[in-house]
Amino acid sequence: MKIIESPQKLQQFAQKQKKSGKTIGLVPTMGALHQGHFSLIKKSVKKCDVTIASIFVNPTQFGANEDLGKYPRTLEEDIKGLKANGADALFLPSNENMYPEGYNTWVEVKELTEGLCGKSRPTHFRGVTTVVSKLFNVCLCDMAFFGQKDYQQAMVIKRMTEDLNFPVKIVVCPIVREKDGLAMSSRNKYLTGELRTDALVLSIALKEAKTLIKNGETNVASIKAVMEKCITTAKSAKIDYIEIIHPETLQNIDTISGDCVIALAVYIGTTRLIDNEIICNSVS
Ligand code: AMP
Repeated sequence: MKIIESPQKLQQFAQKQKKSGKTIGLVPTMGALHQGHFSLIKKSVKKCDVTIASIFVNPTQFGANEDLGKYPRTLEEDIKGLKANGADALFLPSNENMYPEGYNTWVEVKELTEGLCGKSRPTHFRGVTTVVSKLFNVCLCDMAFFGQKDYQQAMVIKRMTEDLNFPVKIVVCPIVREKDGLAMSSRNKYLTGELRTDALVLSIALKEAKTLIKNGETNVASIKAVMEKCITTAKSAKIDYIEIIHPETLQNIDTISGDCVIALAVYIGTTRLIDNEIICNSVS
């Protein structure tokens, strides 16, 4: 596996692949890789001739009081995992590589970024869409692979890709979970002792909501109340949001009639976790 730090060098590598007729898959990550990330790598290896993974803890998507400084970094392990899962190249830029002196260009998607995570992280998605645009331009990818775990992010990137005519197919891959249901996340490393057990309330609440909907409940307020009760059984849990939304517009729904997504963000101690469940409820 080639490890490339400079955007110019990676672009040259990508151009060479394209010239020889190969398709390129991109898997953007912030490192501290787990099986969720590797599921994206495997999908890209299956669908594309060349798979490029990127590891970049993107400072512009972190708010001032967030965990940029302590974000887990496990580069040696990550490299082993990427090789084992068949990645062809790793793009490992520095902050200076990505945002050199004088950098002053931003990509911003409106509306879809305003609710859910955008409410408590108002500058987050601007950082994400900016860095992903740069990655698309540097990697010249035909396909890019994102996790459903970050549902709003995936929808924002789809919007941006369409709006800016990037010739990239966005593939959204299912959430990979631990055996007990916790959605895999690099931030799970922060969860020790009781916090790890408390973190289960996210997936349990989602399961309870899914069962209610399956049994005919359509009132969103009632479903949210049940979820809230479930989550607050964990001493360390503080709800950021629980929303039931339209899968594409991400607008809140009051009454469930078709497909929807249940999305939530919960602080377990100081660690902010997100999770979601897509509900296919269309009347056929
Ligand atoms: P991150 O390193 O957290 O920025 O994540 C990089 C990519 O991996 C994003 O597209 C995430 O949605 C995806 N991802 C993270 N966790 C999971 C998971 N548990 N299952 C599937 N995809 C994931």
